[in-house]
Amino acid sequence: MREGKPDVGERPLGAKAGTVYGTAMTDAAKPSPNSWSQWPDANGRFGEFGGRYVAETLMPLVLDLEQEYARAKADPSFQAEFDWLLEHYVGRPSPMYYAERLTKHFGGAKIYFKRDELNHTGAHKINNCIGQVLLARRMGKTRIIAETGAGQHGVATATICARFGLPCVVFMGETDVERQKPNVFRMKLLGAEIVPVSSGTGTLKDAMNEALRDWVTNVANTFYVIGTAAGPHPYPMLVRDFQSVIGREAREQILKQEGRLPDVLVAAIGGGSNAIGLFHPFLEDEGVRMIGVEAGGHGVDTPMHAASLSGGQPGILHGNRTYLLQDKDGQIIDAHSISAGLDYPGIGPEHAFLHETGRAEYRTCTDKEALDAFQLCTKLEGIIPALEPAHALARVGDIAKELGKDGLIVMNMCGRGDKDIFSVAGHLGMKI
Ligand SMILES: *Cc1c(COP(=O)(O)O)cnc(C)c1O
Repeated sequence: MREGKPDVGERPLGAKAGTVYGTAMTDAAKPSPNSWSQWPDANGRFGEFGGRYVAETLMPLVLDLEQEYARAKADPSFQAEFDWLLEHYVGRPSPMYYAERLTKHFGGAKIYFKRDELNHTGAHKINNCIGQVLLARRMGKTRIIAETGAGQHGVATATICARFGLPCVVFMGETDVERQKPNVFRMKLLGAEIVPVSSGTGTLKDAMNEALRDWVTNVANTFYVIGTAAGPHPYPMLVRDFQSVIGREAREQILKQEGRLPDVLVAAIGGGSNAIGLFHPFLEDEGVRMIGVEAGGHGVDTPMHAASLSGGQPGILHGNRTYLLQDKDGQIIDAHSISAGLDYPGIGPEHAFLHETGRAEYRTCTDKEALDAFQLCTKLEGIIPALEPAHALARVGDIAKELGKDGLIVMNMCGRGDKDIFSVAGHLGMKI
């Protein structure tokens, strides 16, 4: 898949072997942002990460999207429609909930949940899908495509497409189509067309490649809705901005309830969109630590995990430079996690930057620890979390003890666990 120098990474779609496309990495003439929240720079880079490593055929599309997004951001009617849908369709603001019994159980810092699992469709993904589909409509696009792994982003995209009467095509790895039948059926009910992808290992990264290919072919009428804070610039930025409603609400809510900012924010990381959405509005608050939790699978010292920062190296995939799971030849390794939503072999470039600069910290959580946290949360709080935030919760237990009783933690409960009950039953050796 990759050719040339180790750092060059995957060849952009349609590009000749051995040629580096996209923005050069060292453009010293352009000034760098001087505060955390102003990144990316004019080239779409977060330090040495991000950028837009795409073939020439895709370049006009991503430039067009960047311009249209800048116009939309400056247009109050765009924001007003977005806000209206977030309030009346998604059900925002999501509550900020004091998890009293878990706090007692861990015996340390006060733990709050930002309840994004209460959103329509059961997770944070809908925030981003609404933003991108509104952009697509502004741009006069009449066909929506998306990639999906576990099917959650596919369902969220198909939902918004149904709401706006737009045809929706979802690329999904063949293996995932087989593994995620309920979500495949949901998407079909919502009117989406599912395209099973058999290339590679038939999983998320292959679906994303196929979606990019479709986009190049159907430039004129198609908009590609990316499901996490990854892909070529401006996607990592705009996904972050659409998800930042989580952090803006959280900031206001915790100030109201506790009269101060939290000591630590915690979120699970797949590609990093719910985490960056929570973190971003706090980046300038020096006293607020941020901890992302990657999926440690069977352990980061085994080949079976999805921890791109903790167990990967920088490279290029899906149009941006970031940390990736790769073998010694630079081949992308399939990620493993008990949670289908976390098994992306990369991570959004802004997290790579926050990791390298030390502004955010990243830890891991194994399948087993997540399964335990899933059960603990269900029993003590009456909230069945998705397996993704169960990863974050496992580390919240440690962090609460580290901080002690005066500490204050906000964790993003980014999804609900209804979708996971079958797989959890299997892991617990039970039958439903
Ligand atoms: C998709 C998903 C994730 C992982 O995606 P991010 O972009 O890292 O947020 C995490 N939690 C839930 C509930 C998801 O559906």
